[in-house]
Amino acid sequence: MTHCFLQIALDTPLNAIFDYRWACDPAERPQVGQLALVPFGTREVIGLIVAIRDTTDVPAEKLKDALAVRAQLAPLSAQWLALAEFAAEYYQRPLGEVALPGLPKNLRVTTTVALDRAIKKLGKLADSHDPTPVGMPILNPGQQAAADAIGGAQGFAPTLLYGVTGSGKTEVYLQACAQVLAREPAGQILILVPEINLTPQLESNIRARFPGVMLATLHSSLAEGERMLHWLAAHQGQARIVLGTRLAILASLPHLKLIVIDEEHDPSYKQQEGLRYSARDLAVWRAWQLKIPVVLGSATPSLESWHHALSKRYRKLELKERAVSQATLPAVKLINLEHDKPRDGLTQPLMDALKLRLERGEQSLLFLNRRGYSPVICCESCGWISDCQRCTAFMVLHKGEHKLRCHHCSLEMRIPRHCPTCGNIDLQPLGRGTQRVEEGLQALFPEARILRIDADSTRRKGSAQEAFDTVHRGDIDILIGTQMVAKGHDFKKLTLVGILNPDTALFSHDYRASERLFAQLMQVAGRAGRTAQTDGGSASEVLIQTRYPEHPLYGALVRHDYDRFATALLAEREQAGLPPYLYQAMLRAEAPELAKALEFLAAARDCVPHEGITINDPIPMSMTRVYNIDRAQLLVESPSRPALQAFLKEWIVRLREMKSRVKWSLEVDPVDI
Ligand code: ADP
Ligand code: ZN
Ligand code: ZN
Repeated sequence: MTHCFLQIALDTPLNAIFDYRWACDPAERPQVGQLALVPFGTREVIGLIVAIRDTTDVPAEKLKDALAVRAQLAPLSAQWLALAEFAAEYYQRPLGEVALPGLPKNLRVTTTVALDRAIKKLGKLADSHDPTPVGMPILNPGQQAAADAIGGAQGFAPTLLYGVTGSGKTEVYLQACAQVLAREPAGQILILVPEINLTPQLESNIRARFPGVMLATLHSSLAEGERMLHWLAAHQGQARIVLGTRLAILASLPHLKLIVIDEEHDPSYKQQEGLRYSARDLAVWRAWQLKIPVVLGSATPSLESWHHALSKRYRKLELKERAVSQATLPAVKLINLEHDKPRDGLTQPLMDALKLRLERGEQSLLFLNRRGYSPVICCESCGWISDCQRCTAFMVLHKGEHKLRCHHCSLEMRIPRHCPTCGNIDLQPLGRGTQRVEEGLQALFPEARILRIDADSTRRKGSAQEAFDTVHRGDIDILIGTQMVAKGHDFKKLTLVGILNPDTALFSHDYRASERLFAQLMQVAGRAGRTAQTDGGSASEVLIQTRYPEHPLYGALVRHDYDRFATALLAEREQAGLPPYLYQAMLRAEAPELAKALEFLAAARDCVPHEGITINDPIPMSMTRVYNIDRAQLLVESPSRPALQAFLKEWIVRLREMKSRVKWSLEVDPVDI
């Protein structure tokens, strides 16, 4: 028996690797990439072995023994460790905070019961090496060319699959997958989707096509037991296809041969708390590291990807038409709200269009990106409005629950019977959310089957899926929803999309707002007309209610002209010196008083020399106060990514040394500015 010393990464904000002693025969040393149970403070925690040494600098009296090594679990690969290390370095986080939280919770507990059970269960399942797909439709020439280009690609080959909504990108992915699985007997494929609600649709497609292949899914609503099983199936190489949301990018996939990122433009690929990573960017890095192809699919690519395609760093494959024969892109029409005054939020042309769909038994979708009944209530006699006491935000009226609720801090209160300032009993809802539209529609079309899908209506686990199923079955006439309904869904009976109130985003202070709005509207528009128009059926159309019908963004939508719109936006960005021509990081600070947060940021600005780096002035965040905490930000910019990275590396050391009581976080490549 001799000793060796395990260097272990732990899930703690302390930016350090910890040494532990481990007694074992030299022949039975643990391996890098294995998990170990170690004492840490007063607790026992799971850490990741990142190196094994014969000696240590830690004085003997401080050194503790590791308690156990999870020898039954194959080590995480060197490539996986390199991915975690890259992410840690790039996003300026301790390695342990990147590597460990992504592992299933059941792996990070002191007992091995769940792990042993999962290993046993998976052991019974034979490895599936039957890559014979069934029921593949015949691809059109564009799809076939794309599938062959992706499926046949060798080495690092980033591809932008730019295909209009309904062009059959999914079939392209699936056929490319089939080619890769046929060629690589043990190969694994990772498919990312932006939203949990899109996994069931794709999951059933994949299962139907690849009945002999084990599929694992990874997303946040899996129960812990399932999560363990699916993660392990991927880690052990048994799952040949792994389908997941952004968190799946950190899955262990020892035989990864292809990565697919569906709807690559979607903001959900960016994690907005903790480790603020972009799953899309990490996916491209992972593909580069493994020298494998990666496909980024979208009808409205992010400007970053569009930029890469224009500069030929990504190969661009284009699908210009809808896949289903005779399914055409919907006609997009603008309704001028100055001329057509809305009633219950709906203009006459939109009401007529809805009525027509009802008569013909076709489905309609109304899109309004605002949940609740009304975003605020007010007193018309004294001007009181329902502010949140804890946030720079309004309390949203949820009429059915008789409540006002703040969507930022979740503060709830009963709807006041009278104005808190003047006593007036006639408080009015101001503005319109999905619930209010639903109420108005029920009054207008009492015979229609109306369904609202938003975060409020789908709180219960499984309820979103049930709701989408009813729409797919055709049991719904009018669907009202927020961005939840805008993405990816293949609603076959839908011929009308109404967009109620998109104008606010036109004048946002966030320079990304128009890119996002365009993508969102084009995506929601793309839900209409996905099957061939039947005899006597309606041609598909999209009606946008706006006060600014002359705005170029709407003009581009009417022409379905993403190309020109994106290229023009890119030119503007280049001129204004904005991403993707510039690299940014954001330091945010939070404190009970704004002055403290600003003070910290000012000190942070001056704590290191920053030649070649622009550090802007500290400013309050646009929503300054959330849950009684004030928030401020400091934007750091450079035209050179390596220069910015080098600066951040030094800066973060200094920031940690400041030991400020102010809570702060650093975000690299921020998307909300
Ligand atoms: P996208 O993801 O590009 O918006 P989908 O992959 O959802 O489009 O495909 C749109 C519709 O076209 C789906 O109903 C799909 O089944 C159908 N489809 C795709 N490819 C073909 C094909 N080659 N032949 C017939 N139908 C197809
Ligand atoms: Zn009042
Ligand atoms: Zn609040």
